[in-house]
Amino acid sequence: MNSLMPRALTTATMRRWRSGFVVALVSAGLLACAGTPQIAPAVQPGSDGEYPSPIADWRGSAAEILAGAIRLKTVNPPGDEALLAKWLSRVLEQEDGIESRVVSLEGANSRRAALWARVPGNGSKPPLVLLSHLDTVPADADAWTVDPFAGIVGGGFVVGRGALDAKGVTIVHLLTLVALARRDAPLDRDIILLATPDEEAGGLHGAARVARDRLDLLGGAEYLLTEGGGIQPSVAGQPDLWGVAFTEKTPCWLDVTARGLPGHGSTGGQHAAPARLAEALARLAHLDAPIQVVPSVALMFEALAPLAAEDVRSHFAQLRGALALHPEFRERFLSDPGRAALVRNTAVVTTLRAGESVNMVPASAHASIDARLLPGESCIAFTEQVRRTVGAEVEVEIRLAFDAAESPIDTALMGAIKRVAARQEPPGVALPRVIAGFTDAHWFRGLGITSYGFVPRRLRPIETRGIHGPNERISLDNLTLGVETLVEILEELDAQP
Ligand SMILES: [Zn+2]
Repeated sequence: MNSLMPRALTTATMRRWRSGFVVALVSAGLLACAGTPQIAPAVQPGSDGEYPSPIADWRGSAAEILAGAIRLKTVNPPGDEALLAKWLSRVLEQEDGIESRVVSLEGANSRRAALWARVPGNGSKPPLVLLSHLDTVPADADAWTVDPFAGIVGGGFVVGRGALDAKGVTIVHLLTLVALARRDAPLDRDIILLATPDEEAGGLHGAARVARDRLDLLGGAEYLLTEGGGIQPSVAGQPDLWGVAFTEKTPCWLDVTARGLPGHGSTGGQHAAPARLAEALARLAHLDAPIQVVPSVALMFEALAPLAAEDVRSHFAQLRGALALHPEFRERFLSDPGRAALVRNTAVVTTLRAGESVNMVPASAHASIDARLLPGESCIAFTEQVRRTVGAEVEVEIRLAFDAAESPIDTALMGAIKRVAARQEPPGVALPRVIAGFTDAHWFRGLGITSYGFVPRRLRPIETRGIHGPNERISLDNLTLGVETLVEILEELDAQP
């Protein structure tokens, strides 16, 4: 999942972070590779004899379990998540008080599977699900300073593809179960861990199958927590912002195909497919994407307003009017890509494919467009708009689309997150948030389960810039903070009548 968090105050934050950035890179051993401090990997997954020993102190094991998970490559496609599910299940099997199993969602022989685990409660309240995903996006090794799949621990970080998105989330959830199972008394509700395959490709082979065929895994859950939101560190004198995602923009992924006369490269090529495709895609720049403030985004900025810089506070409180009436504010607002994405639909060409030989004109040329729509917008209507813009010479088909779903924000879980945020040091303010990326949460919102994107990690730019990028990493502090805070939130929720 990919997310950019709009900031109430940016310049001071950036200055602080920039100065810390080089220091952090050096301490992570990523600027100077020679002499990189490394802990010898204690976890060597890959065969049956190489499972980790039982967890003694979860704080001490967190980094090595995550490093081990990174070493089990689950790049999607093809995913191959079953091996990781099995490995993590073996970690959990050694714990008293946790049931765990590997769930094959596509037949017993599939190499794709989910991990399911549960710490039973006393049954007086419905379960809460901790959802994450086992697959990752690919890694362009040339852009990394270390092997993306080596699972390196050093300098206070775990580095590797999936460290944040989302193996780092799975490990925080897994260790939360371990910490809960070691409590004296059970919670009121079952806490269920669900780590699915295929999120990065839209979840059709993972979360979608759970939501359609395997409701038994959810046990009639009332709540679900997953990736998508987190803790934005404060600037001096301000509280941390705990962004709790309650809805998301939706994907409207399109395949564009141009067809033309195939033949020898020497014969002109007036009607060549690649040229037709290029012309059509160039017209995409003229796609009209007006600024719109949908109700969920208006609500988010209204909640953020009291914490925003004084000169934008009243504009955030009335975002629709402010963007329409104040050109200077509009320009400033739109200059932040994270914010700009929340007030308009976007469409980006992400792949191009045509031809195999320099002297041969191919019969067809293909592109894909990653369009993201504001909650409430229709992909069918947007696709019609794209068709009109690129012209009738090319075919435009929808590859993936779903409707936005929203969770209520006035809930006991939101209340618990708010109270836990307020008593931290530094204190935090929990706010409802709309994210420009998408997660698997919508499959479960669609079932009526209140689902929030929130993992209590206090990520700094050195960490967030690695999501889907090079040198992805998470600090050991954030792994610990994630587990401790999640346990605190679940206990706080439990204390509700
Ligand atoms: Zn992702």
